[in-house]
Amino acid sequence: MAAPWDDVLRDKSAIQEAAWVAVDAALLEGVLMRTEGEPNASDVVNYAPFTLLPSAVPSALFEQAYAVQQDFNLLVDAISQNKEFLEHTLASTVKVDDFTARLFRIHVQVLEEGLAQSVFLGINRSDYMFDCGVDGTPALKQIEINTIAASFGGLTSRTVAVHGRVLKVLGKSKEASRLLPNNPSKGLALGIAKAWELYGSQSAVVMFLVEEVQRNIFDQRCVENELWNRNIRVIRKRFRDVFEKGSLDDAKRLYMDGQEVAVVYYREGYVPKNYDQQNWEARLLLERSRAVKCPDIATQLAGTKKVQQELSRPGTLERLLPGHAEAVARIRATFAGLYSLDMGEEGDKIAAMAIADPDRFVLKPQREGGGNNLYGEELRQVLEKIRDSPERTSYILMDKIKPQPAMNYLLRAHSPLQVSECISELGIFGVYVRQGKEMVMNKAAGHLLRTKAIEHADGGVAAGVAVLDTPYLV
Ligand code: ADP
Ligand code: MG
Repeated sequence: MAAPWDDVLRDKSAIQEAAWVAVDAALLEGVLMRTEGEPNASDVVNYAPFTLLPSAVPSALFEQAYAVQQDFNLLVDAISQNKEFLEHTLASTVKVDDFTARLFRIHVQVLEEGLAQSVFLGINRSDYMFDCGVDGTPALKQIEINTIAASFGGLTSRTVAVHGRVLKVLGKSKEASRLLPNNPSKGLALGIAKAWELYGSQSAVVMFLVEEVQRNIFDQRCVENELWNRNIRVIRKRFRDVFEKGSLDDAKRLYMDGQEVAVVYYREGYVPKNYDQQNWEARLLLERSRAVKCPDIATQLAGTKKVQQELSRPGTLERLLPGHAEAVARIRATFAGLYSLDMGEEGDKIAAMAIADPDRFVLKPQREGGGNNLYGEELRQVLEKIRDSPERTSYILMDKIKPQPAMNYLLRAHSPLQVSECISELGIFGVYVRQGKEMVMNKAAGHLLRTKAIEHADGGVAAGVAVLDTPYLV
């Protein structure tokens, strides 16, 4: 999987020159983030971290990831409509994981009341690594699918231009011209715009539900801009604003400050720390409303690690997608080994297997956002402590994927320029819109490549571990 610029990697002065150009290009193109010191103001901003060079990605695996995205969209949508499956799958998890339990309670409540929402919008990102099997042939293996607040579709739309510039500076114009265009922010906005249109009120707005700390605002602004360009009004509000100023009318139309909301696009609400009691109440209000939630609470639950693990059981995909044998086969081909730690004989055996050989596995709780998984010795210690307790059912176990590392430079503000051994994770954005029972849009909307130094087992860009990258197909 060598890239055709390994020759220049050790040319210190050429690399330094290219890095200066790269940083300025990133600032010019808008690959931006607010700073840690001033996360809620744009007076001082910096570039979002990125690789100096694009990373080699096997073109067959890249195409495979795109080809399976519509299948994953269908699957997530099917799970979200399957009350029995969600209930059965999450039964053990909700007993021990309070966060999943609270989400689940809202899900049950809105179903009991009857769904007011009739248009559904899903924006997800399916993430993969390229596993090097015993014979060294890389295979596409899914890490997870993110069904809420999947980010970096905006900033990654702008990294191609930066990497193109760097390659030219390094005398690789031919390679620069081979970089693929990529614009997820446009694809996501087209989905939001379609949902807004089907909601059917010209004067209604799209509400971005945003965090208290908004360092990654520019990524979201890319999507917002695409909506404004289509004359769709966008407002940005926090859960707290919804608690204070949100209301429903008799038909469960959602109003914020007197403005009707057609679509709620969550860039928040996926981890326990996003919620206090008032925020939970705000979430319930939004879920009860007629507004199109992206995602609705059932779709958020469809993205839990526990659901991912249950999908890998023989027969489950077939039951969820009857009559879609080819889609099922494409989906299953991307699965790594996934194992349940539910109480009982099967779970006992899995726990013992992981304790005996911890380096083969990753232990994952029902959390998002990076930095929560356990590996190696830590995995062994934790699992040993909880192996006989129901607490173990709040985790799933997964085979550890082992990609072939490659050398690159990770550019971060205030960090020295040094070469690192890196691995990459490819994400494909999926967008779909359903009206009642009818799928009216189902698309792959672009990609995101993130790269990190191999010494970090875990973590994404927002967690400060991975950086933005651009695939170079080989
Ligand atoms: P999160 O919801 O926190 O993003 P992930 O499942 O994506 O959870 O895991 C976080 C990170 O941990 C991934 O980006 C990847 O770098 C690493 N990781 C997760 N699962 C595996 C695995 N099976 N093998 C190797 N690395 C993994
Ligand atoms: Mg992840």
